Formats: sequence, structure tokens, C-alpha cells
Amino acid sequence: MKQGQLYIVSAPSGAGKTSLLSQLRQQLNYLTISVSHTTRAPRPGEIDGQHYQFVSVDAFKQAIEQGLFLEYAHVFDNYYGSSKTTVEALLTAGKDVILEIDWQGAQQVRKQTAAVISIFILPPSRAALEERLRQRQQDSEDTIQRRMREACKEISHYPEYDYVIINDDFAEALADLLAIFRSERLRLARQRQHHAALLSALLT
Ligand code: 5GP
Repeated sequence: MKQGQLYIVSAPSGAGKTSLLSQLRQQLNYLTISVSHTTRAPRPGEIDGQHYQFVSVDAFKQAIEQGLFLEYAHVFDNYYGSSKTTVEALLTAGKDVILEIDWQGAQQVRKQTAAVISIFILPPSRAALEERLRQRQQDSEDTIQRRMREACKEISHYPEYDYVIINDDFAEALADLLAIFRSERLRLARQRQHHAALLSALLT
């Protein structure tokens, strides 16, 4: 039976993770990016059920108590979590699933699933990261400095990941991401799943 592969992609905010993943998804249509639950308010343009499942703090805490999350974390004063049943159903249906989550969630998933493949996206420099944070938000200086500290904390966890991508040139970083996903699909165990009939016919 085909079982999908679980991936984790983490990055500090401002590293370009969301744009890279949306391009990746367009090129590799067998990938599903898991829609997380969050207690934060939607940003302009964000759609409930598409970018996130936006829920109340009470509903989130109830879901924690009911054991509904594969992983969850408290990030920037808000809760974020991945639904266990949704992710498991996709994997069982043979879909490759990406969890776009932070280092805390990544640690929780690794404890449960040794087979997970994790990727960390880094900015090309501190200055570039700060510039991207400034461009993106109309935040106060204090908030930007706080976001930089949070970003440094996230970055300190890069050694826990299987792959590291530096997003200096967008096209190159996307090519690097594609290379990871393509080569993981070529592993013996996966080729055996995807081409069982061919492999058996070649030997008869
Ligand atoms: P944002 O609010 O900018 O969309 O996301 C803030 C941070 O929360 C990012 O680092 C993102 O990776 C993380 N995040 C988003 N969804 C999840 C999730 O389901 N679980 C965990 N652990 N982190 C998440």
C-alpha cells in the first residue's frame, strides 16, 4: 500500500518560506501543505480554511485536551497546531504532506515519527532578514527588534534538520527545494511503492 511521506519545513519569519512553498506546490502537484489551526487573527487577504483554520483560544485549548493535535506550539503570543486526523488521513491516502511549522512543533513530530524529513530555510544574512521584516510589516521598531530576536531563536535550531537551504536567490532556493523532493521520491522504498507492477514485470 502507498503511504505518503511527511515533511517539515521551518524558517524564521522573513526567510521567504511561504512564497517558496507556494511555488513548490504549483510545480509538484502530489504535495499537500497542511493547513494549521491558529488563534491569531487573519491578516488581510488570508482566507479561513485555506491559509489557516482560524479558531478561538478556548476551541484551541479544548482541542489540545482532546489530543487532536499531532503537534502544537505557542509562537508570537498565539497558538498554532497541526490536526492529527487530517495529516494521518492524507498520509494513508498516499499523499506527501508538508508541515509548515516552527522548531518546537518539529521536535514533537520527530519524537513520534522517525521517518519525517525536515528542511530549514535560512536568510542569506542578518541584514537581509531585518530588511525583509521591515518591508513586510508596518511595525514599530520595538516589534521589529522583537521579531529579530524570535528569528535568531528559530535559526539556532537549524542543526536539528536534515536539509538546509539558503534563500539568497529565490529561483536557486526553489531549485534546491525541488531537488530534495525529487530525490526523496527516487529512494528505493518509495520507487518500490510507486512502481510495484513495473518492478515485478521486469523480473518475470
Ligand atoms: P505566521 O503567524 O507568520 O503565519 O506564523 C508564525 C510562525 O508559526 C511561523 O514560524 C510558522 O512556521 C509557525 N507555525 C505555523 N503553523 C504552525 C503549526 O501548525 N505548528 C507550529 N508548531 N508552528 C506553526
